[in-house]
Amino acid sequence: IEYPVLIFIAACTSFITIIINYYLSNFEYQGLVKHTGGCHCGAVRFEVWASADLHIFDCNCSICKKKQNRHFIVPASRFKLLKGAEHITTYTFNTHKAQHTFCKRCGVQSFYTPRSNPGGFGIAPHCLDEGTVRSMVTEEFNGSDWEKAMKEHKTIKNMSKE
Ligand SMILES: [Zn+2]
Repeated sequence: IEYPVLIFIAACTSFITIIINYYLSNFEYQGLVKHTGGCHCGAVRFEVWASADLHIFDCNCSICKKKQNRHFIVPASRFKLLKGAEHITTYTFNTHKAQHTFCKRCGVQSFYTPRSNPGGFGIAPHCLDEGTVRSMVTEEFNGSDWEKAMKEHKTIKNMSKE
């Protein structure tokens, strides 16, 4: 084979590789993308399938207010803890339904189990790695009057359903 032909084949191969890598890194399945994230020290790491356009809840219940907690909710099946189970500790209070999980090394709550959706996870958007979030819409949730807010909200309780 002549040299220019080899160059051409090499160029084509690298072009195809770039296209495939681009496609895989932006892989979207049924409107979901794979986000990865974790705590500050790196002990806790997870992956979560969710939309690239995130719907964030900004809650003002007693603990969310103190933590400035914001989160989006996913069904449990879309969340996978990659590492750090042994570094996670859990704080509960009042009804003990919400599981306020956080890294006991660095103190960061990158995900938890919200009282609104005990069958799912609340993920902190600010703990995701860069590059997979396209947009964020933040909705205030009046968790300080929790029962009333839950009754009036049309969709929040279904957000952990498949
Ligand atoms: Zn940590």
